Amino acid sequence: MCGIVGYVGSQQAGPVLLEGLTRLEHRGYDSAGLALVGSSGIRVAKRAGRVRDLADALPKRFSGRTGIGHTRWATHGPANDVNAHPHADTDGRVAVVHNGIIDNAAVLRQRLSDDGVVLASDTDTEVLAHLVARSAAETLEAKVADALAAVEGTYGLAVLHADFPDRLVVARNGSPLLVGVGEREMYVASDLAAIVRHTTTVAHLDDGEIATVTAGGFTTYRLDLTRTARDATTLDVDPAARSEERR
Ligand code: GLU
Repeated sequence: MCGIVGYVGSQQAGPVLLEGLTRLEHRGYDSAGLALVGSSGIRVAKRAGRVRDLADALPKRFSGRTGIGHTRWATHGPANDVNAHPHADTDGRVAVVHNGIIDNAAVLRQRLSDDGVVLASDTDTEVLAHLVARSAAETLEAKVADALAAVEGTYGLAVLHADFPDRLVVARNGSPLLVGVGEREMYVASDLAAIVRHTTTVAHLDDGEIATVTAGGFTTYRLDLTRTARDATTLDVDPAARSEERR
């Protein structure tokens, strides 16, 4: 299980995400990637190797104010560019980053390929992108809930959808995920270290919880989409540790 960071707000998401991923490097990883959503849809950049290698290889005009990033520790498929996260559906309308293990991935992969879906990677994670894309539900949280209803296993995950460029949807089951509150901008992360430089006001999701995150705030749900009451709390992080984090 490795690192997730996400951003939605008025800044360019790319630099915020790269910096967050750098702060998760100490956990160890084999590859890194970003997906941004903007008016022209979703763009993904990912590769085996260091976050610095990813930063050096980003395409020109890789822009968007909503995005997700990941450092991977491979469990399903070798560490290579294709297996790096984010994973997208066939049309590139959905992008997913995931920490954890989908236990029934083999069954889900088979079911998708029986339906004519060509899987691009060896990962368990890729099924999530296809399942979200194939859901007929109207909202992004409902599409993600539909996908998760088919899934057995552990996840901390974050999802982007080209039809919903103003939001991220995140979910947790057995792998940590928190939402960080800024000034008209919001963050998500698997570990506070990724976002502590920006905010210490956070809400930790429980297992079996989904959150929709926009620049203006967040809403939490159970997997059946009934609302949960979850407030953000401001953590008492040692200012010295925080300025240490800034370096
Ligand atoms: N099981 C996923 C994969 O192999 C996620 C690994 C992780 O937690 O980084 O891609």
